Amino acid sequence: MSEKNKIVVIGSGPGGYAAAFRASDLGNDVTIIEKDTSLGGVCLNRGCIPSKTLLHISKIIDEAESVKKFGVTYSEPSIDMGKIQSWKNRVIKKLGGGIKLLAKQRNVNIVKGTASFISDKSIRVVNEKEEQTINFDKCIIATGSRPINLPFAEVDHENILDSTSALSLKEVPKSMLVVGGGYIGLEMATAYSSLGAKVDVVEFLPRLLPGADLDLVKVLEKTLQKKLNNINLNTKVTSIANLKNSVKVTMESEGKIFSSNYDKVLISVGRTPNTDNLSLENTGIKVTKNGFIEVDEYRRTNIDNIFAIGDVTGNPMLAHKATHEGKVAAEVCTNIPSAFEPQVIPAVIFTDPELAWAGKTEEELKAENIDYEKAEFPWQASGKAIAMDRTEGKTKILFEPESKRVIGVGIVGCNASDLIGEAALSIEMGCYSEDIALTIHPHPTLTETFSNTAEVMEKTITDLYIP
Ligand code: FAD
Repeated sequence: MSEKNKIVVIGSGPGGYAAAFRASDLGNDVTIIEKDTSLGGVCLNRGCIPSKTLLHISKIIDEAESVKKFGVTYSEPSIDMGKIQSWKNRVIKKLGGGIKLLAKQRNVNIVKGTASFISDKSIRVVNEKEEQTINFDKCIIATGSRPINLPFAEVDHENILDSTSALSLKEVPKSMLVVGGGYIGLEMATAYSSLGAKVDVVEFLPRLLPGADLDLVKVLEKTLQKKLNNINLNTKVTSIANLKNSVKVTMESEGKIFSSNYDKVLISVGRTPNTDNLSLENTGIKVTKNGFIEVDEYRRTNIDNIFAIGDVTGNPMLAHKATHEGKVAAEVCTNIPSAFEPQVIPAVIFTDPELAWAGKTEEELKAENIDYEKAEFPWQASGKAIAMDRTEGKTKILFEPESKRVIGVGIVGCNASDLIGEAALSIEMGCYSEDIALTIHPHPTLTETFSNTAEVMEKTITDLYIP
């Protein structure tokens, strides 16, 4: 039977506000504590939404350039970063206002301030004006994460940037180095290079985007090699000197040491959880050695009435994972049967081409010694991709050998972000290759590449000749 509780949610990101709204809809008395002036967390204010706003603009710039070869020529774009920033801020404000309104409609109480635990039943909240104590029956921690800094480089947000300051530049830098070849770094590199900056990327590992299938990453890398000035893999940054009118970066690769100067350097080497400011020691909540909160499938910590969701619980640090966890935690808090047990959490890199996957990657299956069969459909055979001149893409489906049940899907190509939803659904629904091959997909669309790939597995493909 459901029960009514006093629930406090710390943090108003996609995890926190989803948890709070679901908890309120289930009849609980809910308070969100948020230290920022605006609601929405990293995702809305300095993550997903601002980055995709910039990437949308960069996509239009690239598309305008790409139609030259079809006989349509625009003049060179003139970039007004001030206007771009105010457009981005309007988008954030609109969505932030939406969250505020949804909270008001539900009578969710919003308290502005930084929360820390006094005990497993009460929280101290401090803001510029006052300090107060809030008691709770249940608490959901959704405090998210922040960028990791390099020990030898102080982020001044002028010349040496983190992802937050990189999203707020008032001018397009002439040159930029992105330290880190993960998804945030590559998305920023894509956006600023389209806006006109000469961008280098340096990555310590021998490859970009660890976690994604290498054969898909290679397709992206090929395009990025043309778009960006330089991608230095297997290269370690050893020092970063802020010379005020430029930044001197020294790097080491295969024993060779070299230096370059950049207008801006973006440090994008990972994220760390916001658990250090919570006084968790007053509750006995267990954290991992990297500070992430340990939770079970109900998103419950080792303390019975305290839950944790989103980035603060570890990888994958993605907004949609946080939201889903938030709803589960709210339901469990209300004594409604619920658990966080997704088959897949899709991941998308919003570069150009985009890269997306759901379920197991080939590399994971190999590492876990799991047998699989694979079917691929090259976009050179897709009518829509040819019409768009975007044939570099590829769709790949991984199947359980005998049953041909889908266990993983990887897509590289334009609009992969929109295509991966169907893949996630097919895995959640336990689809077999035949289910997908026999589902009529609309023509001409990139969605056909998904059913075409299943047809390759079923050996019913007619858009390719496979002897
Ligand atoms: P957050 O969104 O981090 O929110 C936590 C909130 O808690 C913050 O508002 C913070 O102020 C507040 N808080 C922290 N400590 C306290 C305290 N002690 N007291 C009160 N309040 C506190 N994910 C995607 O899925 N897709 C994307 O395209 C994507 N792009 C991204 C691009 C960038 C540049 C970045 C940086 C991230 C991106 N992410 C993306 C990741 C996504 O933003 C996070 O996974 C998501 O925001 C996590 O949500 P959350 O609710 O766990 O926490």
